[in-house]
Amino acid sequence: MLSRQEIRISKHEIRNKFKCSENQSTKTRRRRSPAVFDIGAFGFRSLFRISCPPRRFFDFGFRASFLIAASLPFVICGSLAGQQDFSRVEIKSTHVAGNVYMLEGSGGNIGVSVGSDGILIVDDQFAPLAEKIRAALKKLGEGKLKFVLNTHWHGDHTGGNPEFGREAAIIAHANVRKRLSTTQHTLGRSHDPLPKHGLPVVTFDESLTVHFNDEEIRMVHYPHGHTDGDSVIIFAKSNVVHMGDLFFAGKFPFIDLNSGGDVEGVIRNVEAILAHIPKDARIIPGHGPVSDIDGLKEYLGMLHETTAIIRKGIAAGKTVDQLKKDGLPEKWKSWGDWFISTDKWIEIVHQSLTRGASDKDHEHKR
Ligand SMILES: [Zn+2]
Repeated sequence: MLSRQEIRISKHEIRNKFKCSENQSTKTRRRRSPAVFDIGAFGFRSLFRISCPPRRFFDFGFRASFLIAASLPFVICGSLAGQQDFSRVEIKSTHVAGNVYMLEGSGGNIGVSVGSDGILIVDDQFAPLAEKIRAALKKLGEGKLKFVLNTHWHGDHTGGNPEFGREAAIIAHANVRKRLSTTQHTLGRSHDPLPKHGLPVVTFDESLTVHFNDEEIRMVHYPHGHTDGDSVIIFAKSNVVHMGDLFFAGKFPFIDLNSGGDVEGVIRNVEAILAHIPKDARIIPGHGPVSDIDGLKEYLGMLHETTAIIRKGIAAGKTVDQLKKDGLPEKWKSWGDWFISTDKWIEIVHQSLTRGASDKDHEHKR
């Protein structure tokens, strides 16, 4: 994580970042600027859909406001460390199997079905990337975009909804629509609702099948894992599975405990998915390179082992600080990164295992 000294940024850079003028009135800024900005370079940076900062942010309170912001490492990492400039993002296309492709740019991996019926995408990253995503899709096929499937509500997977929702039907689990249509609170920030045209128009509770491009594309909901609205998408004929953020290939995952997520739920869900998908399936993770059953098993092994270590420590009466001091075995060192470090992963698991049943119930009902 960044220290405060490393987070030096000028007022000019802040204004550019938010594309707001110091002289604009708050009312004008609201009118001229989108309600929210999706910012950040990798995955969860998108979670931080930050509203145009209030005028006082630019005034004398700037320094104080910024130091307060610096105490929220995720926000800082998400919004500033990457110095994200969407104009520099390139969309990389990879053939996965059959008629399924994966697009990587900034945010969650996009799955694509291309064929005679047109185009279907799974997740859509950020609104400012929509034109680049459209251009990448056009290279894969001339057909029209017909469907957008959302694996869950996080902004790095649904930020493009207001763009693509005007031309295609968005489909997601019912809880995704619920969360996208109301203000959400996670990672110490609030996230504004999406406009109506960015919301899923078809929702389901357990599963749904889209018959498209000569194959069954199944969306299957798994409860209380990364969030409470996760879906896995199975391209039956192409033998490809898009896992959404139930799978971070080779990395410690973020688990959104404020959105109904649960560490043990992720483990249960990954076990269930492994038991149901073909052994030779290709797997698109929410983040990271295209993987397979072996990659998913390795991920499950990490979840089992690290969770067992932390559970044992809790049973021995250790605090979260003691657990962090103990750390995790060397073999998992490379699984931590700037976003979910080893310490952050220990915190998430500790919080998930120690919060009371009433906390879980509360979050699950939100
Ligand atoms: Zn997510």
